[in-house]
Amino acid sequence: MNIQDYKGVFVFAQQVDNVLSGIALELVGKGKDLAKDLNTEVTAVLVGSDIKGLADELAEYGADKVIVVDDPELKEYRTEPYAHALASVINEFKPEIFLVGATAIGRDLGPRVSARIHTGLTADCTQLDIGDFPINPVPGKEQLHNQLLMTRPAFGGNTIATIACPDFRPQMATVRPGVMQKAPREAGKKANVVEFNPGFTPNDKYVEILKVVKAVSDVADIMDAKILVSGGRGVGSPENFKILEELAEVIGGTVSCSRAVVDAGWKPKDLQVGQTGKTVRPNVYFAIGISGAIQHVAGMEEADIIIAINKDETAPIFDVADYGIVGDLNKIVPALTERLKAELA
Ligand code: FAD
Repeated sequence: MNIQDYKGVFVFAQQVDNVLSGIALELVGKGKDLAKDLNTEVTAVLVGSDIKGLADELAEYGADKVIVVDDPELKEYRTEPYAHALASVINEFKPEIFLVGATAIGRDLGPRVSARIHTGLTADCTQLDIGDFPINPVPGKEQLHNQLLMTRPAFGGNTIATIACPDFRPQMATVRPGVMQKAPREAGKKANVVEFNPGFTPNDKYVEILKVVKAVSDVADIMDAKILVSGGRGVGSPENFKILEELAEVIGGTVSCSRAVVDAGWKPKDLQVGQTGKTVRPNVYFAIGISGAIQHVAGMEEADIIIAINKDETAPIFDVADYGIVGDLNKIVPALTERLKAELA
């Protein structure tokens, strides 16, 4: 492998049912920043059936180029044809960096593609930078420039590891949804669209999809919420979440929770914020009866305003809070709801 032959930042533009996933636009945004540092372009790789129409949206969010792999075999996500599509794109276009979302699809696809093209992959990254590797000079070891430095929590969130892939290309990472920022949309911006089809011949690894059963949820995705009212073990019981729901209703918020609440079976997993839950970035985040463990904070510290309510004034949540109220949530939350109801009436 001649590393110098590999150029450009590529991102997998995940779509489901011909709708781009949020992570696709987040990766285009991050890819644009990395490409700027490397003085190169960001290319979105769009894979599916009848999906060419999505190329404009990718362009408006910053993609310089869109490679479209469009084939009826790619209508629904299946590991084998999608892995073949991405591995073929990489072999043909030789990108320097290839990013995939750490979604259910991306976690299945990323490692398989990296093994197929014989490169490394850092899973579930929360930060990506261009820099020198080794980060600090090591006597007798050449320090390489313009490497992708991939950072992720390790050992249960107790340490943060920064990993590089100096010997193989592309440098591949899966990236946590909700962590990277989309670029502002520029209406009417166009990208260079290239169609590429490596050919898809069904083989015994092409699974047959008999039926697609979609989970029905009447709860908004907490990753889209502007205001989150999040409860922890301190709320005390599933019934007592009612006081959080009443507060959320008055201020147009959505209820979320800590892992302790999910583990206790009080709320479903898709409401969990944190390292093993979702990363959220609302305008306002209420942390109510939540201690502020590092794994929880990892999922909410990017909120614009954090308001913590906890009876323990030494709780670590107060270290990241913009506003803190020390006291019993059973008194404070209903009083706050009543006051806000009156103010907003
Ligand atoms: P606790 O830590 O028990 O805190 C309850 C808080 O409520 C306390 O601070 C207490 O003072 C306060 N309180 C009690 N009663 C009242 C009252 N009446 N009024 C006001 N305050 C009150 N956690 C996550 O949340 N998300 C994750 O994604 C996640 N991932 C993890 C991954 C790994 C690998 C590991 C090891 C752990 C993970 N955790 C995660 C768990 C995390 O370490 C904590 O155990 C968890 O966040 C604690 O939840 P909590 O704050 O609700 O409960």
